[in-house]
Amino acid sequence: MKTLGLLGGMSWESTSEYYRLINKAIQEKLGGLHSASCIIHSFDFAEIALLQQKGDWKTLEKRLISAAVKLEKAGAEAVVMCTNTMHKLAEAIESSINVPFIHIADAAAEAIQKRSLQTVGLTGTSFTMQETFYSRRMKKYGIKTIVPSEQEQHTLHKIIFDELCLGKLKESSKEACLDIFHNLENRGAQGIILGCTELSLLLRPQDTHLILFDTTLLHSEKAAAFSLRDNTN
Ligand code: GLU
Repeated sequence: MKTLGLLGGMSWESTSEYYRLINKAIQEKLGGLHSASCIIHSFDFAEIALLQQKGDWKTLEKRLISAAVKLEKAGAEAVVMCTNTMHKLAEAIESSINVPFIHIADAAAEAIQKRSLQTVGLTGTSFTMQETFYSRRMKKYGIKTIVPSEQEQHTLHKIIFDELCLGKLKESSKEACLDIFHNLENRGAQGIILGCTELSLLLRPQDTHLILFDTTLLHSEKAAAFSLRDNTN
């Protein structure tokens, strides 16, 4: 089994899901007492969120690269960054390490392709919805992404930072997210990317008829599959 290096703590609420899902996937595959071989570098999210707010992506880049290099030195055989937003810096991180970087948008795109969908709604933080790093990656797979209105983006961003990253799950926020998803459906979305790793803490497949692409689950499964590739234990 290969050792995974997780860049986590963004937020820890979702990193704990990654840890659970990766271990579960490995245990399901290998059975018995098997569990994942992994190393987690967990950031203090207050510091990361502040740098995001300030738009200081240079400092964020330095900090993430330094942590990814440490994971590699500690024995990680692939790096998994447990947040969609920070994939804005994916290329810089990937080119600073010598082990594979497992990209979250690839995990989502592969699942969307399996369902043969062409247009999907992209939901997440304002950074993920407003900037092009995510939609460009989807485009490479021939997938078109549409995003919520400005007001709806603001609502989602607030729910993520003021509630989900703090472990607060509110029924009213779930309803607000579902309204946003339905508006995207009316504009042509055939499915919805839960493009923030905390969104699946609030929204479950049974909450809607829409097809949800849970990036936390898909990314964790892709990471576990990598870890078990050519497995001889
Ligand atoms: N975990 C979130 C994401 O998937 C948001 C936190 C962050 O800004 O990194 O985008």
